[in-house]
Order: sequence, then structure tokens, then C-alpha cells
Amino acid sequence: MELREVAAGVYACLQPDRGWGWSNSGLVARDGGLVVDTLMDVGHTRRMLELYAGVVPGTPRRLVNTHHNPDHCWGNQLLRDAEIYGHTFCVEAMGADLAPAVLQAMIEAPELGPGPRWFAEDVREFDFSEVEVTPPNRPVGDEGLTLDLDGRPAELVYLGPAHTGGDLVVHLPEDGVVFAGDILFRHCTPIGWEGTTAGWQRALEHIAGLEPELIVPGHGEPCGAEGALELRDYLGYVFDESRRFFEAEVPAEEAARRIDLGPYAVWTQPERLVFNVARAYRELRGGAWDEPPEALALMDEAVALRRHWDRG
Ligand SMILES: [Zn+2]
Repeated sequence: MELREVAAGVYACLQPDRGWGWSNSGLVARDGGLVVDTLMDVGHTRRMLELYAGVVPGTPRRLVNTHHNPDHCWGNQLLRDAEIYGHTFCVEAMGADLAPAVLQAMIEAPELGPGPRWFAEDVREFDFSEVEVTPPNRPVGDEGLTLDLDGRPAELVYLGPAHTGGDLVVHLPEDGVVFAGDILFRHCTPIGWEGTTAGWQRALEHIAGLEPELIVPGHGEPCGAEGALELRDYLGYVFDESRRFFEAEVPAEEAARRIDLGPYAVWTQPERLVFNVARAYRELRGGAWDEPPEALALMDEAVALRRHWDRG
């Protein structure tokens, strides 16, 4: 876990991408401190807040959740008295989504299928036993919200549905910084939950159009606008390839085996491709934007794809 000053008074808390759950956070050290996202569990979030306390003494006054996935909000309880901002979809989904006990049981289960075992191996350094899901107490609508932090704006911009139904980014226009949450995975293979390919691509183009000097992604290393455009191109490439196979009535699992990832094969966890193909197929057969993926089955498929590649 590394604290890095990315602009004067603006920090990123970066964790190397080690697969599921290893996300980034941010801190704007103004007006009592604004945190962008907590981490996957209470222990890691506590360590992160200790780093932040070296910059802004005391408990930060504000928290923004970019979306509701656990790796961005399961440390929220440590900031339960703060103003916690999140899109209305994020607020609802956080309360209704995964229970920490379900993931804890997954780590501790002696016999798991290949997909859940893959997931459990990535997240086994986390401890979900003390997580109390703490949704935002300041819901933000589609119109977004601008906060005044000691005279400098922090714009909470709603760009969903993209990676989820409730994606907010934090734009600091005077600093040239965007905290993108999981609209941006940098050199990590993305997974989308709710939303459509076109919507996600528009969100990435919107971020690039802000002409930021630096984007802090939800996963991976900070980058410039080129990072957003590169992910847009990945999503477009996978969608176009998926459509070719869909129209030829090739099953999604087989399509994932036949897609040549080219330059994207070096991104971490390339086997997550199966999630992106499944999402494209859902769109192509006219499925609703908020139809959830069959996550456990897709994890099994991803492991099978990895084995297929390894047999090469
Ligand atoms: Zn994430």
C-alpha cells in the first residue's frame, strides 16, 4: 500500500493489482479531508486511514463512494460519522448486494469449485468477519454535485451506468485530477456488472474529454487520458469480436476461446474476458442493462479458459 501525492494536496492510496479486491483510494487534503473510496475490508482501510492521518490529522470529514462493489466500500464503517456521498443506485445496491458473511464463508470453505477457489485465493488476505456494510448517507442524483473544499471545487460527476449502475467520478478541475473508480481499470482486465458497452465507452470518453493531467483508476497505476481511451478500445474490440461469434451462433464460452486478445493479453487476469463476452452476448440478445451476470458460473468458465490457454 503506497501513499502518493499526485497533485498539491491530492493523494492516491495505491495497491498493486493482485487480482480480485485490490483497489485504489484517494484523498483530497482540504476542508477536513475528502476520501474517495474505502478498501475491501476494515483492516486494510484502517492502514489506509493511518497513511491519510499523516496528511490530514483526525478523521476525514467526507467520503465519496464511486460505486457499491465491496472493494470500494467495505471499510466505510470507519468513517460512519462522516458525510458519505454515493449515487442513489450505489446507496440501494450496497445494502442489497453481497453480504460479507457470504464472502467470508467462501474463503473458509474447504471445498470450492474452481471459480470460487480462484476468487478466494486472491482475497484470502482480507477479513470480512468484522465488516458492517455502511451505505452512503448523502445520496447523489444523476445531476451530480459540486463540493467546495476550501474554495476549490470537487465535482462528483455521475457517468453511469458504465461499470455499474451507480458510477460516480471525482473531478478536481483546478488540479487536473480525476478519481475514476472502476470506470477505469489500468492494464487490468475489466469486469462490468450493470450497464452497456456503449455507455461505458461514453463514460471513458467523457473522462478523457475533461483533459485530466492524471487519472487515478479503481485498479492499476495512475495514467493520463490515454488510459481511458485504451480501455474504451478494449471494450469495443471485445464487443465487435463477440458480435461476430454471436451472429455465427457460436456459444459465448467458445467465443472467448477463439478471440485473440492481441495486445490486451498482457493485462492482468485476461481470463476475465469471459465476463466481457457474456456481457456483450447479453446486450446482443436484448437483455436488460441491469441483468446481473452469472458470476460464479463465469468464474468457473474463466478458470477453464486460463487452463485452455495454458495447454496452448
Ligand atoms: Zn473495484
